[in-house]
Amino acid sequence: MASPCQVILSPNTDSRPADSGIDMIVVHNISLPPNQFGGNGIIELFTNTLDATEHPYYATIAHLKVSSHFLIRRDGQLIQFASCLQRAWHAGVSSWQGRERCNDFSIGIELEGSDDCAFANAQYLSLQALIDALKKRYPIRHIVGHSQIAPGRKTDPGPFFDWQRIT
Ligand SMILES: [Zn+2]
Repeated sequence: MASPCQVILSPNTDSRPADSGIDMIVVHNISLPPNQFGGNGIIELFTNTLDATEHPYYATIAHLKVSSHFLIRRDGQLIQFASCLQRAWHAGVSSWQGRERCNDFSIGIELEGSDDCAFANAQYLSLQALIDALKKRYPIRHIVGHSQIAPGRKTDPGPFFDWQRIT
């Protein structure tokens, strides 16, 4: 990793199928509460410690068992929740070019953000450094948005994510 990475392991992971090659990165956005940045909600969601009474929206999601491999906060800070060798639970029902269950063969990267505003420059820098590191370890052939593998169901990373800024 190019920069120090904090590790907070999520229980919401399991083993990848034995024959699944890791060749995809899925880019997401998340903010908890929605459109508020800097709090602990995302970490709490991924570690099953979100307090359903803390915010009306939390009551609708606190029961979910979800995770991603990485979160990039607004200042570019990188947090890892799962080994890339494990399957994180970020994509849900999904398919890409005829392959279903994208969690099986993908690495999930959440950007702290929303569909309604631009991402921070520091996030693009951190994301590209992470992509570069992952490409050295895995034969990544697809970098896609959650909305592309779950169309009609998911909209993230949203219209403000600038695909031109990553390679
Ligand atoms: Zn997503």
